[in-house]
Amino acid sequence: MIKKGDIIPGNMYFTTTKLHQELAGGKFVDVIIDEAHDPDSEHPFKGDIDLKKLQKVIDTHGPEKIPYVAVATAVNMAGGQPISLKNLKAVRELTNKYKIKIIHDMTRVAENAFFIKDREPGYANKSTSEIVREICDLTDGATMSAKKDALVNIGGFLAVNDYELFEKARNMVVIYEGLHTYGGLAGRDMEAMSIGISESVDEDHIRARVGQVVYLGNKLIQMGVPVVKPIGSHGVFLNAKKFLPHLTQDMFPAQALAAEIYLDSGVRTMERGIVSAGRNSETGKHNYPNLELVRVTIPRRVYTQAHMDVVAESIEQVFEHRDKIGGLKMVYEPEYLRFFQARFEKI
Ligand SMILES: *Cc1c(COP(=O)(O)O)cnc(C)c1O
Repeated sequence: MIKKGDIIPGNMYFTTTKLHQELAGGKFVDVIIDEAHDPDSEHPFKGDIDLKKLQKVIDTHGPEKIPYVAVATAVNMAGGQPISLKNLKAVRELTNKYKIKIIHDMTRVAENAFFIKDREPGYANKSTSEIVREICDLTDGATMSAKKDALVNIGGFLAVNDYELFEKARNMVVIYEGLHTYGGLAGRDMEAMSIGISESVDEDHIRARVGQVVYLGNKLIQMGVPVVKPIGSHGVFLNAKKFLPHLTQDMFPAQALAAEIYLDSGVRTMERGIVSAGRNSETGKHNYPNLELVRVTIPRRVYTQAHMDVVAESIEQVFEHRDKIGGLKMVYEPEYLRFFQARFEKI
């Protein structure tokens, strides 16, 4: 859908998504509400789109330059923060006016739906699956990484409402993935996915899943560890800027913190800060995101409460000697998506 020179507004960037937008010749513009960039804001829907920012992008570039708005549910880089249905409906209204499509990154749609049920007026008595349906009805297409909410080892799908677009995608899939009937997936994995999709909206499952994350988050808050609030759906996000205030951002504080936690307990977390944000594709300089976070992501149906206690104790130990933690320098930097393969040394 993206042509050279196109603009793709979205509720915060996602690493691989943004790269693919750029490789196709487009440019990502962030239109998430300001609160999403503030780790301490307790806004219940930090995944919401700022309609004024979106309107400004449309006015500046013209609707013909915008193939679609990229809307993510349970926004990963913001800390697993949900978008509200009220906001999505308003985005739909605005985009309809200009005939702009909405493409939904539905990787964590069930977790987002759970938060809507829990927090948004009028949805307490709806089922999670009804809310998922309502979200999808407001969009024109969706990409799904099924190894997240849909509980499988591998796989995903693309879904679109537009038949012409579907035919184009179906044709491309045979070049890049495999025949259109399986898209590079084994039959066994597709069967698992069909079960996983149903189980992902099971009310007991989703409550237990998000509840386990909140359990860990509250434990860390009690220990005085700075985390992103409210606690998100799929992980607890440590605020590395506050955790290691003596490190400047070009000393990679979140990467340093993730390494320290690994050294302490073998618990593997993930940098979501300056390393993940990569370089500006025009100037070649580091992007300096406001959020410098360590994502403590919890796999679904893998760990017990006792494991959460061990994770919290390890982070607490690291927190106690935080003033002795030094920065890092990057000694190997791949061209694309550097956070996956970069190597670091202690300064
Ligand atoms: C993991 C993820 C992706 C990428 O999906 P893969 O299945 O790993 O290719 C895209 N968007 C979001 C929000 C994700 O979390």
